[in-house]
Amino acid sequence: MAASTTAAVLYAATVSVPPQSPIPEDAESKSHHLKTGGFRNPWESWSTIPALTIVRKMIARRLTGKANIPDTTPPTVPVRKPQFLPSRETPKLRATWLGHACYYVEFPSGLRVLFDPVFEDRCSPFTWLGPKRYTEMPCDLKDIPFIDAVIISHNHYDHLSYPTIRQIHQQYPGCHFFAPLGNKKWFADSGIHNVTELDWWEERELELSPSSNSTEVTAVGDAPSKPSNILARIGCLPCQHTSARTLWDRSKTLWGSWSVESANSKVYFAGDTGYRAVPELPKEVDDHGPEHAYPHCPAFAQVGQLRGPFTLGLIPIGAYDPRFIMSPMHADPHDAVKIFQDTKCQRALGMHWGTWVLTEEDVMEPPKKLKEALKRNDVQETGIFDVCDIGESREF
Ligand SMILES: [Zn+2]
Repeated sequence: MAASTTAAVLYAATVSVPPQSPIPEDAESKSHHLKTGGFRNPWESWSTIPALTIVRKMIARRLTGKANIPDTTPPTVPVRKPQFLPSRETPKLRATWLGHACYYVEFPSGLRVLFDPVFEDRCSPFTWLGPKRYTEMPCDLKDIPFIDAVIISHNHYDHLSYPTIRQIHQQYPGCHFFAPLGNKKWFADSGIHNVTELDWWEERELELSPSSNSTEVTAVGDAPSKPSNILARIGCLPCQHTSARTLWDRSKTLWGSWSVESANSKVYFAGDTGYRAVPELPKEVDDHGPEHAYPHCPAFAQVGQLRGPFTLGLIPIGAYDPRFIMSPMHADPHDAVKIFQDTKCQRALGMHWGTWVLTEEDVMEPPKKLKEALKRNDVQETGIFDVCDIGESREF
């Protein structure tokens, strides 16, 4: 028998504070903390549009026929059943897109991380109202063989789901959850206490130690050997967004992007983010022309400089139209390529599209625009920053 097998090994997680990595000078004042509680985007690239104004403008666009209503008639994004590795052995870094902003990442060190899991039909506080999936879920949570850490970018419903988090906690009681500041209470209220909440630029060391009676068989016929510890460094980083789970808690909890480094692989998860705020322009105007040099968020270049380069970036490319409403908080594919370059990712995969209609762009537009944006930024159109099918795995 040629195939190698790995006996089920149980790991216990320990989280500790590593020595402080360098942080940008302008981050020391914590200008993203509000004195009144809550958080803000401390950059010129942000503009605050009140939540009710957004809703009012989006409804008005629909009523006046200005809004594009995306057609979700199949076929749209192909969905396939993911093939997860049955053991913790992975020669390469492997990322599987599970729809919207959810990625499952298998690290060569053995670490298994799930980002922004939402295994629900609707991303909403209600099971009967709110955006409904137009592409199928590629698998069930129970199909995922190992989950050591779940990393949450922020608390919007398309990124943080109570039933999903509860199910993960029940299925993998040793799984450790990471979220930006202010989210720990939500987890505690959900009965989950193995949670670490972090501020931008803070890091933790995650150590997974095999339980004392675990043995690992690396190949049939080998003597069982003691599996080694799995180490990772997990860091919360800035991004330009907001947060809310109700009408009354906007920006009360922090949002963030994340880095996860384990052995020789380093992943950047951009979460949900904008890059620059674009004013209302006529529909045919391309806001990426040189005459539209609006300020962009400086945090990504700081991330690249102080935490990069990254083996892989997971970067949002969807939910951007209309730009004058969405651009402060959601990157379009051109913004996404800039984020990719600023953060010094060697490769990237797109996310935050293909699952729920949240905005007005056609559902198959983000990958097309991504190709245009790559070309315009002198990046080859395939093989560097790709989109994959839902359920597809890519290796790096
Ligand atoms: Zn969001």
